[in-house]
Amino acid sequence: MSTVTGLLAEIVEQAEALALACRRLHAGGLLAGAEGNLSVRLSDSTILITASGVDKARIHAGQVVRVHADGAPHHEPESMGRMCDGTDTPRGDSPVRASSELGMHVACYAARPDVRGIVHAHPPVATGFAVAGLSLPADVLPEVPVIVGPVALVPYGRPGTPALAAVLEPFFAAHEVFLLANHGVTAVGRSLTDALLRMESVEQAARIVAVARLLGGEQRLPAGEAAALASLRRSRELPSEPSSRSL
Ligand SMILES: [Zn+2]
Repeated sequence: MSTVTGLLAEIVEQAEALALACRRLHAGGLLAGAEGNLSVRLSDSTILITASGVDKARIHAGQVVRVHADGAPHHEPESMGRMCDGTDTPRGDSPVRASSELGMHVACYAARPDVRGIVHAHPPVATGFAVAGLSLPADVLPEVPVIVGPVALVPYGRPGTPALAAVLEPFFAAHEVFLLANHGVTAVGRSLTDALLRMESVEQAARIVAVARLLGGEQRLPAGEAAALASLRRSRELPSEPSSRSL
């Protein structure tokens, strides 16, 4: 398989994986309507990102946009346009624009060479923590240190503007999940699947902690357990190239 053919296959597979992940997040109530944006860094360092304003319940593989590592549009040959939407119909008559949060994705990939997938959504309970100015405790549920990883509580930056990437910048290096004040949640991973599972787990953990607080407050894990679990996460091998079928 030539390099070009391999890249085309990767684009088709990852565009399908992005659309499938969006539909899964919508079905799970982690975003509504056209909210949220997801991206993947391809093997040639270009980025596939969901288009702006697309209904995530019905998004398909043709509604993703390929950009360069710096966010500049990538102009596809017509044949690649056909490959991107998985049909014989060129996309030219209805051009799609990258998500308004492209700047956040570009800044994150630049800061984190290990990150290959980013999921941004508005999960109601985890976002509720961010709106309340609360982080998620790391020493209550094993899934938080093992799957979610370090969670940052990030100050408000206006969505769709460079202010959002600017407030995130100091937190990129040491965290995997970002609770965005008065906004939503961003999760990163070594693959799209990794980031998606992280997003689902942080919302699940937030639901459980919220219920525990309604019932009188959470009990902590034994002393030292969260740190031991976190080192387990760092040492284990994570999948590097998930297929769309694994979602
Ligand atoms: Zn958002």
